[in-house]
Amino acid sequence: MACKNCTTLSQKRQFSTTGEVTRFLRRLRGLVDDGRITEFPSFTDLADVEDDASWPDVIECQFGCPDCGAEFTFKTNSHHDKAPQWLPKLVLFRRR
Ligand SMILES: [Zn+2]
Repeated sequence: MACKNCTTLSQKRQFSTTGEVTRFLRRLRGLVDDGRITEFPSFTDLADVEDDASWPDVIECQFGCPDCGAEFTFKTNSHHDKAPQWLPKLVLFRRR
């Protein structure tokens, strides 16, 4: 029942280095540009998150898979000293 479009994003991830985050954010931008995932209006615009690790203290970006409706959140909050996380929200498979 895995969705081919977003299966590579469906694992929860935690990032321990800024390099990992940078690479992941670049990949996310590519996926959004290609229309593979949709960016939802949320606390942070992905476009406002720079590549040079000068990120805002609090980031919360939300995305969805247009094929299966799965939702994903990328978030980090340096005030709480939490590692940046990628959180898939499991939703029931639904067809358009
Ligand atoms: Zn999907």
